[in-house]
Amino acid sequence: MPKAVLTLNAGSSSIKFALYELGHSTQRLISRGMIEGIGEAPRFTACAPDGAVLESRAWQPAAAASHEQLLQPLLAWITAHLGDEALVAVGHRVVHGGALFHSPARIDPTVLAELEKLVPLAPLHQPHNLAAVKAVGSLRPDLLQVACFDTAFHHGMPAVAQRLPLPRSYTDAGVRRYGFHGISYEYLAGRLRALAPTLSKGRVIMAHLGNGASLCAMRHGRSIDTSMSFTALDGLMMGTRCGSIDPGVVLYLQNACGLDVAAVEHLLYHDCGLLGVSGISNDMRSLVESEDPRAREAIDLFVYRIVKEIGALTAVLGGLDALVFSAGIGEHAACIRSEVCDALAWLGVECDELANDRHETSISTPRSAVRVLVVATDEEAMIAAHTAELMRARSPLLMEERRVS
Ligand code: ADP
Repeated sequence: MPKAVLTLNAGSSSIKFALYELGHSTQRLISRGMIEGIGEAPRFTACAPDGAVLESRAWQPAAAASHEQLLQPLLAWITAHLGDEALVAVGHRVVHGGALFHSPARIDPTVLAELEKLVPLAPLHQPHNLAAVKAVGSLRPDLLQVACFDTAFHHGMPAVAQRLPLPRSYTDAGVRRYGFHGISYEYLAGRLRALAPTLSKGRVIMAHLGNGASLCAMRHGRSIDTSMSFTALDGLMMGTRCGSIDPGVVLYLQNACGLDVAAVEHLLYHDCGLLGVSGISNDMRSLVESEDPRAREAIDLFVYRIVKEIGALTAVLGGLDALVFSAGIGEHAACIRSEVCDALAWLGVECDELANDRHETSISTPRSAVRVLVVATDEEAMIAAHTAELMRARSPLLMEERRVS
């Protein structure tokens, strides 16, 4: 019987999943889906790789509260779909691996306890990631569970890029720059290696522009600096997050505006960015279509912050050979790519507008001093690949049986 691995990306309002059939050395996507409306009216949807809906189900609002109750129907659906013994492992997106975890880790009680200690570093993400781990552990203790970290790809950044200018005691206690979106960047580095092997060894900036947005400067396919740092709040302006702001603003909000810590946290994570500036939406599509001048102001600031940060990372790299756009906005918003490229004309960037409008992979002109590419990211595929690798290392016999049968 074919074996399968499940990937889970558990957040506060949704759990995204993907299901892969394990081959001897590769894995094939069988289904993608989501449990959404958590805390309101949960809905479970599973789709085939071509988007056809395989299963769609809703619960009564109060019926499902815990991650265990939410994941139970998904695991039951997988059993009904693939058979009793098909699922062998679950790979989780875990946002923070701290200083300890540089690569995907098999989750056991010791690892879980270490990951719990990192909750204060990522209070809005880590608890949900770990709740899914605990739920799977309780529903299916037989499954191998693997944690893949958003921070791990940046672990090798030079010390100077990891340090914050704080007293050493704070740095020693873990208050330093970690960086995020690492699972996406690792996938994109692999794709660039396949698409343009020589270019991938050069000075590259990857732009992961989704609801969360960041940049990563790479040399030889490795992160040497990135725009997010201690938390996923830093760097670029995002859908609802502020990105870099003067820390004095945080003090002012508390001292002069009377906001308590929880209110400031909510403001910075949920009410800022595209939503805060436009007062309309955090969704780039709505802003691009809007004729409200506040939408234009929000887009202008979004682009300005990207361009400014690309300038800083280009200085860190000592020049730029390639710029790669990815994630929802990077892959689909041709107008944003075009505006960023125009503002980088001083670097010799020249966008081929026709190729850009067609969302082609290469969108720079042959004359451009910097290659500009659009590459779709796939964090689930990366998590599945790591999980399968640990699965194969743990149970080579299981994989051997699969190859023989
Ligand atoms: P997440 O970080 O939640 O995974 P995504 O990578 O899916 O987010 O990106 C979501 C963003 O991508 C939203 O701002 C959305 O408006 C934007 N987006 C998706 N498709 C388009 C499009 N065709 N044009 C402009 N923006 C788009």
